Amino acid sequence: MKGCFPLKKFKDIDTPFYYYDTALLRETLRAIVSETARHEGFCVHYAVKANANPKLMNAICQAGLGADCVSGGEIQASVDAGFQPSKIVFAGVGKSDKEIKLGLAKEIFCFNVESVPELEVINGLAGQMSKVARVAFRINPNVGAHTHANITTGLAENKFGIAMDDMPFVIERVSSMKNVKFAGLHFHIGSQILDMGDFAALCNRINDLQDWCDVRHVPVELINVGGGLGIDYTHPNKVPIPDFKSYFDTYARHLKLRKGQTVHFELGRSVVGQCGSLISRVLYVKQGAVKQFVIVDAGMTDLIRPALYQAYHKIENLSSDEPGKTYDVVGPVCESSDVFAKSVDLNECHRGDLIAIRSAGAYGEAMASQYNCRPLPKGYIAEEMQ
Ligand SMILES: *Cc1c(COP(=O)(O)O)cnc(C)c1O
Repeated sequence: MKGCFPLKKFKDIDTPFYYYDTALLRETLRAIVSETARHEGFCVHYAVKANANPKLMNAICQAGLGADCVSGGEIQASVDAGFQPSKIVFAGVGKSDKEIKLGLAKEIFCFNVESVPELEVINGLAGQMSKVARVAFRINPNVGAHTHANITTGLAENKFGIAMDDMPFVIERVSSMKNVKFAGLHFHIGSQILDMGDFAALCNRINDLQDWCDVRHVPVELINVGGGLGIDYTHPNKVPIPDFKSYFDTYARHLKLRKGQTVHFELGRSVVGQCGSLISRVLYVKQGAVKQFVIVDAGMTDLIRPALYQAYHKIENLSSDEPGKTYDVVGPVCESSDVFAKSVDLNECHRGDLIAIRSAGAYGEAMASQYNCRPLPKGYIAEEMQ
């Protein structure tokens, strides 16, 4: 089964480009909103780093989600797309003074703080601006997620967050500071997680930390569990919308919340991943010594995930229904790792065929580069092509 694409409209557009199925995005957003509405105090922030296309961000903002930013640029892009600062959270292991000042000036909802030196800088800058910054501590829960090693973030050895053992010291420090207010605890264990047991393990760790806070009478207003819900890269047509019900139910079942607490989620990939495809043209079909290569005009500069973490993306030849052949699909960039897939079955390929690389809405366009002086790929919105 192949996806549905407006092929006639694609004919006149320069390839490669990203195509976003905004109807699917809206359907995904409806699923998120209806599943969170079943649980009191659940708030979802969209992780902007997954895709900062202004049209997509605007649709996400319209659906009522907040934004999760990891840079000053993302805070500005979120405000520009219409997100209320009171729904913006700001994470990141290396926030610069300029970025912190922007967050303070916009009066964002919360800074997710990753170290004591950072806490001191935020306190100092907030003092200069006569503001009080709300802060949550990003705690490294030492929970391993069953995902690619490059995208686990919650292990003790990772650079992210504050070690659990340091928490008492940090909480003591914050209580003596005038321009930061401790709001709660933040976590993020990794990305592309499909095993709900990983999220349940995180909940158990959070429950322990909350007990610890209770004993010491440290009020915790919010719990931010980060993002990480995965998508089905193998079956984008059969499973276009992730299982948000299981995801939110897992948290509802395992998190022991205190009265009035809100739970914040930072979802990126699961919101936009399936709505985007990278559309490319076949330049050449080349018979190698042992393999057939399909050389397409998109490369790792347009979509780096396969080269960076051997990520799998389903590939479809949209122009051909001829019986399948086995190909390596590669890009034109001068790097051996510029390979989208090895030994995949595709309908027979010819020069000029249009190829869709699916499930590329998250960490695709956002990670594009200009290596080899290649232009950045453009993003087209389905509704604007009608
Ligand atoms: C990247 C990131 C997210 C989003 O992760 P997804 O896997 O795309 O849902 C959320 N929170 C933090 C802190 C992140 O770094």
